[in-house]
Amino acid sequence: MSTPQNDQTVCPTCMGKKVISGVCETSSEWDGIKTPDQEECTSDSDCSGQVCTPDTQCPTCKGTGYV
Ligand SMILES: [Zn+2]
Repeated sequence: MSTPQNDQTVCPTCMGKKVISGVCETSSEWDGIKTPDQEECTSDSDCSGQVCTPDTQCPTCKGTGYV
């Protein structure tokens, strides 16, 4: 049987998901301005000014889901 230890609490930051979900947001100031890292638009999303953050390992629980 694999019962969770009583001294572990589900991480409040990631809610036990172990990762922080990436978020996408559109910059209102983008307006065609290209950064050096994005000289080429390879998809509509790249050109629309939408900036997405990839999923990252939760820094609070370090990817364990518990603290
Ligand atoms: Zn966490």
